[in-house]
Amino acid sequence: MSKYVERVLKETAARNANEPEFLQAVDEVLTTLDPVLKKNPQYEANAILERMVEPERVVMFRVPWVDDKGIIRVNRGYRIQMNSAIGPYKGGLRFDPTVNLGVLKFLAFEQVFKNSLTTLPMGGGKGGSDFNPKQSPHTPGKRCSDAEVMRFCQSFMTELFRHIGPDTDVPAGDMNVGGREIGYLFGQYKRLANEWTGVLTGKGLSFGGSLIRPEATGYGDIYFSENMLAMRGETFEGKKCVISGSGNVASFAAEKLMQLGATVMTLSDRSGAIFCEDGITEKMLKDIMVLKNVKRGELADFAKKTKAVKFFPGANSWQIADKIDAAFPCARQNELNGKDAAYLLKHGCKLVGEGANMPSTPDAIAAFLKAKIMYSPGKASNAGGVATSGLEMSQNSERLSWTAEEVDSKLKRIMKSIHDNAWEAAAKYGDKGNYVMGANIAGFVKVADAMVAQGVC
Ligand code: NAP
Repeated sequence: MSKYVERVLKETAARNANEPEFLQAVDEVLTTLDPVLKKNPQYEANAILERMVEPERVVMFRVPWVDDKGIIRVNRGYRIQMNSAIGPYKGGLRFDPTVNLGVLKFLAFEQVFKNSLTTLPMGGGKGGSDFNPKQSPHTPGKRCSDAEVMRFCQSFMTELFRHIGPDTDVPAGDMNVGGREIGYLFGQYKRLANEWTGVLTGKGLSFGGSLIRPEATGYGDIYFSENMLAMRGETFEGKKCVISGSGNVASFAAEKLMQLGATVMTLSDRSGAIFCEDGITEKMLKDIMVLKNVKRGELADFAKKTKAVKFFPGANSWQIADKIDAAFPCARQNELNGKDAAYLLKHGCKLVGEGANMPSTPDAIAAFLKAKIMYSPGKASNAGGVATSGLEMSQNSERLSWTAEEVDSKLKRIMKSIHDNAWEAAAKYGDKGNYVMGANIAGFVKVADAMVAQGVC
């Protein structure tokens, strides 16, 4: 590791000691950049790394709201505006009790490189709240009602609206922020700003949303993996796959894999994992989507009613199947550890395509790289969601809407170009096939060059 990287990592660790996820994300990127820093001394001279690890702006605010019993609740809201060198801040909102400053800084940092990789002009940001829509504050075991979620979203946006705008910062969904939440947030923004503008992406189709946006992250993950397979002359036909999660990313990754002839053996959620050796069927997947998105239930309930699946309470998806060709972590950060990686490799896994952000722990990543399997980091393979958000922004600006086929073919093209850029950067800097290094370098160079050109800011 160069002295420059070593020094920045040390300073970042000292300054952000209570933010382990942020430090993990910074470490993962900076430790792969030496070859490009060596060839380009202007980056150190312009303190590019020091500036990249410091958000341009952090907004933290109170979110007071009234629950269905008339009790006032107070949550904490955040928006991290990480880097706007190549475009307005762009990145999702996450509502989850695990949300804190460090988690959002890690996500915002990742987002900078991911957005750069999409080839679209988008800076990086992330936001959210520790609000838990899956647990009512007054009735244990029940979810928040739609009315409570709406009142929370309205209060959240009452502060956030001051800091965002179609040319400043354009949030989207993330964990627990789907179509329902984006609708409420957009409605409140419109009232406060007194203008109809594409300030959020992931909107409903009747008010400026893009076709294929809900599918884009999951589909994009699989398109990226198709490109990795194509380098080895293979396809998904007949491949046995395991997926974690059963939310937005996981369900559409599963759908695309089924369309391509693969067998999807697992899905999971907080209640546990379901397993079906012969493959979860399209009908089961449709039922699961309704269960998760409409009824807002758990896979444990699904397993009770479906004889063809086995249920593993509290388990994740990794250590269940005997023969595994490919794994897709699509739930959350650090959900696949060194032991899981060892199990996957031992049971034949040759491809890991991350749909979630930073789902593999550092020891799992090291094991995948050592085994030289096809391994794509989330910032490259889950960039299809934000890329399609970029396409939604273009459609909103032009007051046009493209067909599903048009958006899907643009998404495919973008995922191929992300794949090829990562592949070529890795080859250029001496580690062919290392998509971690390739994605980090390809994402970094564009942002770093823009920062150098824009002077000290
Ligand atoms: P989502 O719809 O809320 O789904 C998240 C899934 O992960 C759910 O099945 C959830 O289970 C499961 N999960 C969450 N925490 C868990 C835990 N502690 N243990 C076990 N399972 C857990 O979210 P999403 O939009 O699919 O996002 C998933 C990941 O992809 C996140 O890392 C997100 O940052 C990343 N991502 C999303 C997008 C996008 O466009 N949505 C784009 C890029 C990256 P429950 O249903 O039981 O909560």
